[in-house]
Amino acid sequence: PPLWIQRRALVSQILKANDSHSVLDLGCGEGSLLEILLNEAGFTTLAGVDIDPAVLGMAAHNCLPTAYDKQYLRELPVDFNLYQGSVAEVDERLMGFDAIASIEVVEHLDPAVLAAFPKVTLGGYKPRTMVVTTPNADFNVNFTDLKHGTADKPMRHWDHRFEWTRAEFQKWACAAAAEYNYSVRFTGVGILTSGLGNEGVVGQCTQVAIFERLDISPNHIAAAPPKTPQHTTPYKHLGK
Ligand code: SAM
Repeated sequence: PPLWIQRRALVSQILKANDSHSVLDLGCGEGSLLEILLNEAGFTTLAGVDIDPAVLGMAAHNCLPTAYDKQYLRELPVDFNLYQGSVAEVDERLMGFDAIASIEVVEHLDPAVLAAFPKVTLGGYKPRTMVVTTPNADFNVNFTDLKHGTADKPMRHWDHRFEWTRAEFQKWACAAAAEYNYSVRFTGVGILTSGLGNEGVVGQCTQVAIFERLDISPNHIAAAPPKTPQHTTPYKHLGK
């Protein structure tokens, strides 16, 4: 299957394996992850946040119940919400989710927003699990037609601020994990079908970090973020 399908399938598997029932998808785009999580009975609270109202409109459309869903009702109801907002800010309405997913988002963030990302997610929302994916620049040697970036650092997409090597991603993720008392491990998605078979050397096409909170107590309820009265609910709720 195409890489984006493999990516969302792996993320869904990781979330299930970590016993996540509520998932906050930061930078949810057109809702490609939310759409498949909605089909899994175990996910009962889902929310998507994106900065771009146009893609949120598509997410709302893509996540509508199908005729099949109306005929065969879920075992458990699902609470589903979309918000327009930035990953640079915590919104207190979204505290307490088991897990955060952020798929192919960090490479689109300007430096100030990227710097805020671990603080908002691991430090603010404090999910038990967070899954972050991003392109693996080491794998780019397999692409001969990259049109973006510079000659020595070609990139896959015009809107990417950077593409990290495995060493760069791991350095960023390990620093974030250490700062907020999380463990982090790494995996990947996507191998070559051309038969070149150099994954052992350059890794997989997409790199994935799995953060797990170290101080888990059974009845943990995420602490509210420090209050900044004018900005506690900065996201715009776009409806259920
Ligand atoms: N996660 C989705 C997926 O895997 O299909 C979308 C990935 S898309 C490549 C990156 C998304 O990040 C876009 O929808 C973009 O609008 C969103 N984004 C960029 N900056 C953001 C920010 N500061 N806050 C929230 N979302 C942001």
